[in-house]
Amino acid sequence: MKRILCMGIESTAHTFGIGIVDSKGKILADVRDTFTTKKGGMIPNEVALHHEKVKERVLEEALKSSDTNLEDIDVIAFSQGPGLAPCLVVGMNFSKEIALNSKKPLVGVNHIVGHLELGKILTKAEDPIFVFVSGANTQIIAHEGGKYRVFGEALSIALGNALDKFGRIIGLGFPAGPKIEKLAKKGKYIELPYCVKGMDVDFSGILTKVENLYRKGARKEDLCYSLQETCFAMLTEVAERALAHCGKNEILLIGGVAANKRFCEMLDVMCKERGAKFYACPLKYAGDNGVQIAWLGILEYKTRKNFPKIEEMDIKPRWRVDEVETTWI
Ligand code: ATP
Repeated sequence: MKRILCMGIESTAHTFGIGIVDSKGKILADVRDTFTTKKGGMIPNEVALHHEKVKERVLEEALKSSDTNLEDIDVIAFSQGPGLAPCLVVGMNFSKEIALNSKKPLVGVNHIVGHLELGKILTKAEDPIFVFVSGANTQIIAHEGGKYRVFGEALSIALGNALDKFGRIIGLGFPAGPKIEKLAKKGKYIELPYCVKGMDVDFSGILTKVENLYRKGARKEDLCYSLQETCFAMLTEVAERALAHCGKNEILLIGGVAANKRFCEMLDVMCKERGAKFYACPLKYAGDNGVQIAWLGILEYKTRKNFPKIEEMDIKPRWRVDEVETTWI
């Protein structure tokens, strides 16, 4: 079969990334530029401005590092959603411009399904329960009945977001996850609310509690440790139940929070106790990137029959995984 090359453009949140992948899953380019701040959080319009500023350079570097030019690319994919609307618009308009100028087909893909499929090909997991924990998402997902379905999720804020919010309160800057992980190593446990409701989890009450404890003088280290232990234990419990409910025997941790070693350790212990296999998406690809978009672009391009016209494509800021038809599975 002819080798297909796909260029994927990612812009859902803080990262503007371009990846180039071939139809065997070989990664030819992975260039990213991520918006960061020393203090404060992400303001969507500021992040969108960042993406506008870096997009041409990221494209140039992606083509250069893969030793390709636009002529060699067969299809262009972009993350259509879910994400921050101003950021999605930058990625979509840039993708449309490239596709129209180079006369290439354009595929709009779901950013989260991109995480799932890239995680699978990188780890060789076959049919796992996905524990997807990023800045904006916390979901337990599995493929059942022809679609990816969400079996459990965070009811208020996502875990990455909760960590970042707490980081902002205690002055860690953005992203706070890695700094919280470091501080947690020197902490002792303080009891916090444990909020599992059925298959769902809720981090908002825990966040309020740690904030109040911090204002009353509790040590940052103890709060970071207790926040991690409590939130990770809640997700491990729900993941274990999803394994049993779906009759699967693999867990695949994806999303930026997969970088956290303590979380990986907890899930790994749970899997060992059940005779299941634990996989974590390699750290390099745990966060947002253009490669996940390019790889899903290839899968969709090869198997989907109809694509909308480029002019009719729009962003989908609230696009859920269970709305995507998985034609390639
Ligand atoms: P989404 O992919 O849902 O659009 P996002 O782009 O914000 O969200 P990612 O790039 O996947 O998410 O992950 C970023 C999140 O991961 C941030 O909230 C960050 O604090 C968190 N994170 C990164 N490293 C660690 C770590 N070592 N421990 C805990 N959290 C971490």
